[in-house]
Amino acid sequence: MKRALFLMITALLFVVGCTEKPKPRVGVVGIAIECSTFSPARTSKDMFRVFRGDEMYRLYPFLSEDSTLRQQAEWLPVMMSSATPGGMVTSEAYEELVDETIERLKEGMPYDALFLDIHGAMSVEGLEDPEGDFIARVRGVVGRDVIISTCMDLHGCVSKPLAQMSDLITCYRMAPHEDRYISKKRAVVNLLDRIDKGKPKYKAWVYVPILLPGEKTSTRVEPGASLYAAIEPLTQSEGVIDAAIWISYAWADEPRNHAVVMAYGDSEQEVVAAAQSLAKRFWDVRDEFEFVAPTASLEECLTAALKSDKRPYFVSDMGDNPTAGGAGDVTWTLTELLKRPEFKKPNGKRLIYASIPGPALVEQALKVGVGGKVREKVGAMVDNRYAEPVELSGVVETIVESEDNTKVVVRVGSMQVIVTQTRRPYHYERDFDALGLNPREADIIVVKLGYLTEELYAMRGDWMMAQTRGGVDQELEKLPYRGIHRPMYPLDPQMSAPSLKAEMIDICQ
Ligand SMILES: [Zn+2]
Repeated sequence: MKRALFLMITALLFVVGCTEKPKPRVGVVGIAIECSTFSPARTSKDMFRVFRGDEMYRLYPFLSEDSTLRQQAEWLPVMMSSATPGGMVTSEAYEELVDETIERLKEGMPYDALFLDIHGAMSVEGLEDPEGDFIARVRGVVGRDVIISTCMDLHGCVSKPLAQMSDLITCYRMAPHEDRYISKKRAVVNLLDRIDKGKPKYKAWVYVPILLPGEKTSTRVEPGASLYAAIEPLTQSEGVIDAAIWISYAWADEPRNHAVVMAYGDSEQEVVAAAQSLAKRFWDVRDEFEFVAPTASLEECLTAALKSDKRPYFVSDMGDNPTAGGAGDVTWTLTELLKRPEFKKPNGKRLIYASIPGPALVEQALKVGVGGKVREKVGAMVDNRYAEPVELSGVVETIVESEDNTKVVVRVGSMQVIVTQTRRPYHYERDFDALGLNPREADIIVVKLGYLTEELYAMRGDWMMAQTRGGVDQELEKLPYRGIHRPMYPLDPQMSAPSLKAEMIDICQ
């Protein structure tokens, strides 16, 4: 009797054990950079930060060990490579990174689903549509049945191959990208949700012939704010899983550089309606996009900043914004600043210049130390099309040594010029604090940026954006486009209205 009971319980446990569903195996891969093809700069492999395996969890706070999402799947983080925006990626760098990603991806087979984390505006020497190439190689490993959810920057480009091979595809809805984790999480939540339900039945893709710089399409101001706010309500209907608007990227010259709207889900009618209504909305407000801050020539910006008593008065050195793809070493602005009589005397208005690469000057500063005098050329090692390397002659105020990028502050008249070993964006207050610069008390801060990052924006007394020269020149009419589709707004102001009709993209199977 006892034995029969024992056998019954064992059999029952066996059945329960068998029916407990195994967790889905979800891989994570990615590559992210934004590249200006109008810059002579190149991005090599050593400029990428590469995260492999469990190191990748730090990139996704929503997948922290105690998170619900982490428990819902067997996560297989594969490899993520990302770099500060810059020039085109060399073909060797791309091949090496993708080869390693693919090898690691093979090791984790099989997968039920894949989260693909890309920026979408990478350019690679000799290759058109690199993200389309990347996903094709990923598909080559995992096959066509595995469900892939792609999350992108809204400044990325969505070619039809990328749209076709991504079963779910979305992008940020805020610029600056304060919602980057929210968007990635949305892509992951939708992915897990569709593992059982299957791939969405319909994907609509709309070609929108608009190419605008990010500095005009921030969602902090209209019409970007309302345009992007219109997405979420459309995703509430039963037949739509998600929808997205890509502004795309204005400083690369491929056929895929144009705005795109997508929507996908299980109702063809609702998906098409959502995508077309967003595209129409975008087209209808095209003339309303303005720079997010008053924009003028550098001279006008400086005159305004010098007159103002608000501080710190930020001036964006927009043309060479390294976070948009500028080389970050254009000396045009610094050359102009050094000519201004207002900054020649030590008791003039205090101006911080952030920043310029100058490894030779950094070396000299290390020799003479704080308080010592330096005289050395800086900048224009990569992009010297607008100005030559500029000679800085001044006193070393600060040295912050680091293994990969030592920084030096050189006092020239009333200017404090930050000189770095290699180019570096200045996004955070702590970057200035670390150099003892007390940025809130500075009169003027000139920074190689377009729109200010959240922290700098919050710190500003006032702000203007200067039309300066560089690889991400904001005067798009000046760029020598050859590869993009024409007509394109605003380059061809006389163009007739586009169809804005949704094209249905094949389901990958
Ligand atoms: Zn972006």
